[in-house]
Amino acid sequence: MKTSPAIDRLVTSLKRLPGIGEKSATRLTFYLLGAADSTVAELGDAIARLKQDTVLCDQCFNLTDASPCGICRDATRESGMVCVVEEPADLVAVERSGGFRGLYHVLGGTLSPIDGIGPDELRIGDLEQRVRGGEVREVILATNPNAEGDATASFIADRLRDSGAQLTRIAYGMPLGGDLEYADYVTVGRSLEHRRPLE
Ligand SMILES: [Zn+2]
Repeated sequence: MKTSPAIDRLVTSLKRLPGIGEKSATRLTFYLLGAADSTVAELGDAIARLKQDTVLCDQCFNLTDASPCGICRDATRESGMVCVVEEPADLVAVERSGGFRGLYHVLGGTLSPIDGIGPDELRIGDLEQRVRGGEVREVILATNPNAEGDATASFIADRLRDSGAQLTRIAYGMPLGGDLEYADYVTVGRSLEHRRPLE
């Protein structure tokens, strides 16, 4: 396609986003060309500030605007319960279900030896420290119910077995092989509610 370099540049950038192909990138670009200046400026500003205004919470490793984050600072939440999730998007899914009033621990992914992701690449050591710190009564392993999520949950359970905290795994109300991030909030709520103790 022969267009202006500015158009090509944006199409190329948008194409790098997950789920966006050439066609969608082109459609979005022409949409923005026709949109109000304020709409385009707002989007540009939001993108420009995204990384500079976002920090990792040093307690739960959620992405937030301040550390500790609003959830970790909230004194009404049960600090004795820690829900372990893969990514910040999974934390959002559990929060949206409304069924959990404890704290979180974001691992930053799952174990994946093929991709070179071992325990040291995830925040498993930090979790262990947190749990062995004493205050945690229950650790809910809410990694996704697929092969990687299960393997990661088992690995963590082994590491924490003698920590004194109860270890539970979310139930399989979740579609097998599914992803918390994409499940509806009722399903996420149920899978938490029906969590079972890990032997
Ligand atoms: Zn936090």
